Amino acid sequence: MKCFSYPVDSLPGLIEAARELLEDTSYPTVREWRARGGRVLGHFQVYFPEEIADAAGWLPVKIHGARIEPRHSDARFGSYLCSILKTSLELELGEHLTLDLFVSHPICDAARNLAAIWGRNVLHPCSILYLPQNPNSAASAGYLHEEYARVKREIETIDGRAVSDDALRDSIAVFNQNRALLRRVYALRRTEPWKLSVDESYVLVALGGILPRREHNVLLATALALAGARAAVERDLLRVVFEGGFCEQPPLELLRTIAQSCYVVDDDLLIGLRWLTSDVDAHGDPLRALARAYIDQSSYSPVQHDLRKPKERMLLERIHASGAHAAILTAAKMCEPGLDEQVAYARALDAERIPYFVSEFEERMSSFDHLQIQLETFVENVLFD
Ligand code: SF4
Repeated sequence: MKCFSYPVDSLPGLIEAARELLEDTSYPTVREWRARGGRVLGHFQVYFPEEIADAAGWLPVKIHGARIEPRHSDARFGSYLCSILKTSLELELGEHLTLDLFVSHPICDAARNLAAIWGRNVLHPCSILYLPQNPNSAASAGYLHEEYARVKREIETIDGRAVSDDALRDSIAVFNQNRALLRRVYALRRTEPWKLSVDESYVLVALGGILPRREHNVLLATALALAGARAAVERDLLRVVFEGGFCEQPPLELLRTIAQSCYVVDDDLLIGLRWLTSDVDAHGDPLRALARAYIDQSSYSPVQHDLRKPKERMLLERIHASGAHAAILTAAKMCEPGLDEQVAYARALDAERIPYFVSEFEERMSSFDHLQIQLETFVENVLFD
């Protein structure tokens, strides 16, 4: 039985239903899952091997904050922190979501203590997945394999059942299909961006964080068929890459504002859902395959440091591969890694004479007029230069 119903013969209808679900902070699909007796693993940004939870028959839920007041959680954190930490914890404290296990990663100084703080405020276990600090080390894949095995044991302990390798291989195959569909969404954005705007694409992609992945696969295939057949006409908009959405998420209205004057032909929004860039081997040792994929077949973000993937070079590759003519460099307010990287990105773009627009956002911001005027001025300058 499906968790989520939507129109299958109209792209605007499907996207509107997806948007309503995404913005519903009562998380109806997660409630439905729990009502049927299912367990839920919440994992904080940026990347988590969701196949492990899926193979246990659990629903992996991507925790990336929400547009809610952190009424209960605000006092649990110091000031001068990004918003996503507070609103993520608020999801449980404010009873928007109920989890069976929460997993976070020490991605930055601010998030380093998230699992510990979370664990002091809820009754279920909270855990930290330590992704390798140095993916260039020859020992990193073996180390990560052991970390994934540890997380699997934690799930098994709560569940009271073992997770078999066959179940893991099945989940890897399902997620491979999901990754392939997401790549098709982004390919469409690169080749015919007038058929799917950045805000439309975002809601379709983000639903992967709250839907069973098999259901998400059907939704994406339906949306892609409708978008491919869409009778939309190309407009004279600036092709840009949006960078800065790897952790805290900008409001949908911000993306919609950008879409009025730009074709966003690539981005790093919710990059954790697309972290693995090609199929994971679904035939051998499944945890080893997932660990190898994290090391060798992965994207980039300001919170992973891999000498083989200098982030400035990766951004330039993203711009060139998507045929973008400019970049929008954003960062969440108070996000140290994001703001640091903004400086490095700007230098690299200056060196290549690629125009860029710099801005900051917060998940709960509500006024976009100023941004719209500034962005339109930037776009006009680039287009008529
Ligand atoms: S938004 Fe930035 S500072 Fe906040 S948790 Fe994410 S990476 Fe850390």
